[in-house]
This record gives sequence, structure tokens and C-alpha cells, in this order.
Amino acid sequence: MVDSQYVLPNDIGIAPLDCEEAFRLLSVEERLYAHYLSRACWYGGLVVLLQTSPESPAIYVLLSRLFRAQDPARLGKLAQELGLSDEEYKVLNGQQLSSWEKLKQLVWGSQAFAEHPDEMEALWGSCGELMFSLKPRQKQLGLGDKVSPPTPTSSMAVDFLQGTGPFHLSDSMFRIIPKRIDNQTENIIMPLYKVMLRVHLDYCVQFWSPHLKKEIVKIEKVQRRPSPLTLGWLLGGRHGVWEPRDALPLGVRGLIRGLSRGSQFPHPTVSSLLADDDVRQTDGFKNVSLGNVLSVAYSTQKEKLTFLAEEDKDLYIKWKSPSFEVQVGLHELLGHGSGKLFVQVSSEEGAAWEKLQGKLVRSWYRGSETWDSKFSSVASSYEECRAECVGLYLCLNKEVLSIFDLHNADADDVIYINWLNMVRAGLLALEFYTPETHSWRQAHMQARYVILRVLLEAGGGLVSLKHTTGADGKPDALITLDHSKIISVGKPALEHFLCKLQVLKSTADVTGGRSLYEGYCAVTDDEPERFLTLRQTVLLRKEARKMFVQANTRLEGGDVALVQYEGSAAGLVRSFCERFPEDSEQLERHLLELANTDAHFWGSQD
Ligand SMILES: [Zn+2]
Repeated sequence: MVDSQYVLPNDIGIAPLDCEEAFRLLSVEERLYAHYLSRACWYGGLVVLLQTSPESPAIYVLLSRLFRAQDPARLGKLAQELGLSDEEYKVLNGQQLSSWEKLKQLVWGSQAFAEHPDEMEALWGSCGELMFSLKPRQKQLGLGDKVSPPTPTSSMAVDFLQGTGPFHLSDSMFRIIPKRIDNQTENIIMPLYKVMLRVHLDYCVQFWSPHLKKEIVKIEKVQRRPSPLTLGWLLGGRHGVWEPRDALPLGVRGLIRGLSRGSQFPHPTVSSLLADDDVRQTDGFKNVSLGNVLSVAYSTQKEKLTFLAEEDKDLYIKWKSPSFEVQVGLHELLGHGSGKLFVQVSSEEGAAWEKLQGKLVRSWYRGSETWDSKFSSVASSYEECRAECVGLYLCLNKEVLSIFDLHNADADDVIYINWLNMVRAGLLALEFYTPETHSWRQAHMQARYVILRVLLEAGGGLVSLKHTTGADGKPDALITLDHSKIISVGKPALEHFLCKLQVLKSTADVTGGRSLYEGYCAVTDDEPERFLTLRQTVLLRKEARKMFVQANTRLEGGDVALVQYEGSAAGLVRSFCERFPEDSEQLERHLLELANTDAHFWGSQD
């Protein structure tokens, strides 16, 4: 029996990411801007394949060739002729890969193979076996712990910047960007690291040239700066802030200021938030919520609503969306947007001394120290936790809820569902914990687990978490939240915890902050919760993440047309196949060459 953690179910949700109305509301100029920008993003996004696993580029090219030569319907017919069941064929539509032999048979029988047998055989050779492999090292994505890039030094950086070092451009991506920054080296590394991130992005731009450059030049031609509100997902900071999560170096999620064109030009974000203390501290910030993503991602069916009592489910479905709006709004604006840091602005020692909670502030940020550099590996989740706490806390305020047009009983329901959802998220978070390495893989989910622990610790019958047995006879769990205790028990507990988080953050108290936060992050099998056992239950009952079918854009005369696809596996395949209409073959060749150049970085795959 294959571990369900590595297999996607065949009934995984596939939904179109609707943006028709938003696109229609753009002016022609803005549409052109959005078009070129998204072209550049699609090209840049392919970099991810090179950082995911050694076989990823080959899988992408293999599937791309199969489906460009024969559309999903025709390939489906072929599968039938070859004796593959419907279930087995679904395998190919980006889903469960259960049978190596069957897939191989289909590749060999395909039109793409008939046209280029040698190339297809070579592609299969590079990925066929690896994509099914569940060997320890091969079932995980990204570089393993065995492959650790050497610690970067400033001379390496200078060599790199001057182009004199022993680096191949592609080498630098692995060698210079540290995967993890430890405490001891952070002060030396951070400034260098930021330079490197910058270099990496410039490198990404060069790397995809001419594909990407072409699009960037075109964006520049569409001079006018579009209204960020109208576009909904463009973000301009002090110099323009870019968070191209999909084209960053391995394991890095970051922000680059003044990427290339300085202040006249806004840069896009693919995520919904901006989290750079430096900008926030002095200039303020902006962020966006991607409504179309949320509405698809959170349309949960009742039967898939795990770990809730029957009587909570209808209420949950009814109020999930409004409560999410409230929580996200408060999280982003008043969570990440609040909480000044004590920063030494004068060289005079002691100049930053102030009183906090009646005590003199004894520690603060000095020189080039920042939140991220001080709190390094715990910084991002800690900050998410702080923002989540702010949301949870402020949603109790009726005046705040009235801004969201929620009053009386509705406001009470939203409070209850928002808190219930946080407790449930804290439990679901266990999916993102790896017991083997005692590590968390997702900052937000880690933060929600911490909040669940805080609310459990509050006691008083506020939250209960029970191990149960489901109707199917398998382990299950049940979460309950006592609505009447939210104000009396939950609020003071949260207030107390949030205060601690904030004070430790403001005063750059790394030791105190780490020990507090890491204490709550621990996952053990201790009574009464037995979180490690609950983790198994969560994995057993997890709902696979929905896949989004994204639109393409196409130039038509002087305007841009939006090409949408149906929300099905076939729609998903078509949207990929039509993504690079002009240069897909060239692009695929380029991708394979780069994969080849990088191959030695993956080391032994045993
Ligand atoms: Zn956040």
C-alpha cells in the first residue's frame, strides 16, 4: 500500500480560476500591461522545475510533448485502445501516477513518440522511473540535507558580481544562495544574502532570455502605470516591491526592492502579502487578497469538512467566507501592519531606551539588524503567528466587525466560526510537520498550530480535542469550541500571548522569543492530545489541494483577449499546452539543457 502522502487521489478538485470580470474592467492599456506581465511570470515560473527535483523538467517536457501532439481527448482514445482503464488514464492528466508500465505503454503509442521516437525515449529515460520512485531521498522535493551549499563568503560574492569567479551562472544558484542561515553566520550573511537574492533575480531574467527579456521590454513599452486597485494584484512599495515567489532560489521566499526599474515601475506579487519590516517601519505597506483564489480554494463540501461536529458544519459553511475576509483583512492590515520595533537610530548608546510595560527596554535592533536577521529561521512563522493572533483578537471587537458590515447575531456567528476555523487549522497544520526532522514546512500552518496550543493551554473548557473512531472504523478526531468561553477564557489567553510575542519582537529578544515560540511548536505524543498520533489521523483524512485552471491571454489587434478553459483535467492540460504558443519547443530544449547542466548538484539520489 502506497503511503497516501505521496499519492494524489483521482477525484482531486480541479477548478477554473475565474478572472473574466476583473479582466473586463481593465482599460486596454492595463490589459496589455497585465498580458506582458503575466507572460513574463509564466516564463520565469519555469525556473521552479529546475529547483524541484532532477526529473521535474523532463516530466514537464514529456507531458507537454504528449499533449501538444494529441489533445487529452485523442490521447484518451488511444489509452482505451491500449487497454488502459479510465482510472488508469486519469493518471496522465496530472494526477495519480500508479502504473509505470501503463504510462510507458501510452508514451510509446503516442503521436509524439511516432514523430520523435529518440527524443521521447530519452525523456522517458530521464524521468520515467524517478517519477514513480518512493525511495527516501527521491520521494521528497528540493535538495536533501546531504546536499548543502557551501557557506557563501564575500569574496565569492565579489567574484560572482564581477563575473570572474569559477561559477557557471547556473552553479551560482545553488552555491551562493544559502539554503538555511544559522544564527552564528547571520550577521555576515544577511547583507550578502540580500545582494545575492538581487543577483539571482537578475540572473533569472538573463537566464530565460530571450524568452523573458522580450516580455519585459514589451512591458516597458506599455508605459503608463496602472492603478494597483484596478489590477488587483500589482503592488508598488517604496521602490516597487516584487515577491516573485515562483522564481526565487530554493527554499527562499523574499522580497526585492528596486528590482530593476526603480520607482516609476510597480512590480507584481503572486502572493497576498508584503512582509518586509524595513519598508513597513518607514513607509507603510500595501497588500492584496486574491478573491478568486480564495473563493475556489475554500468552497468546501460538507462531507469533506473533517474534524467538526455535525451541528457546526452548516454554520461553518455559511460563515466561512465572511469570517475569512475578516481574518485576512485584520491579519494583513493590523497584524503585519502593527508593532513597531525598537531600533537604534543614533550611535549614542542608550539613546533608544524607553519604557515598555513599565520596564526599561534593555535590548533593541542595532545597525543593520532586522527582524529577519535576528530571528532567522523562526522569524517568518513567528510573524505569521503574531498577525493571526491580531486577527483573532480584533475580530472580537464589534466595531471592527461592523466595518465588514457584520452586526448582531451575524457578528457573533462570524466570531465563532473564525475561532473554530483557527482551532481546526491548528489541527490540520500537523500535515505540514515532519516528525523525522522535527521541522515545520509551512510558516502559516505552524503558526496556527501554536495558536491551537495556546488556546488548549488556556483550559476552562474553551477548546477540546478528542480522538474518535469514524463511521468507516478508522481513526478520527473531533474539535469543539465553547462559544460562551471565547470572551471569558479565550480572549485573555490570547491577549497575554500576543503581548509576549510583541514585546519579544519589539525588543529584539531572540533568546526569549525563540524559547517561547519553539516551546509551542513542539509536536509530541504526550497526553492528553497526543499530537503525533493525531497527525496520522490528519494525513489519513486530508483533502487534496484543488488544482487551478488558469487562463491565458492573447494579443488580438491592439487589444488582449482572455482565453479561459473548463474546470477539468482536460482544461488544465489545454491551458498548459497553449501557454507558450510561439516558442514552446525552443523553451523545452532550453529547459532540458539547463537541467543537464545542474544535474550534478542533485548528488546521489539514493
Ligand atoms: Zn501573514
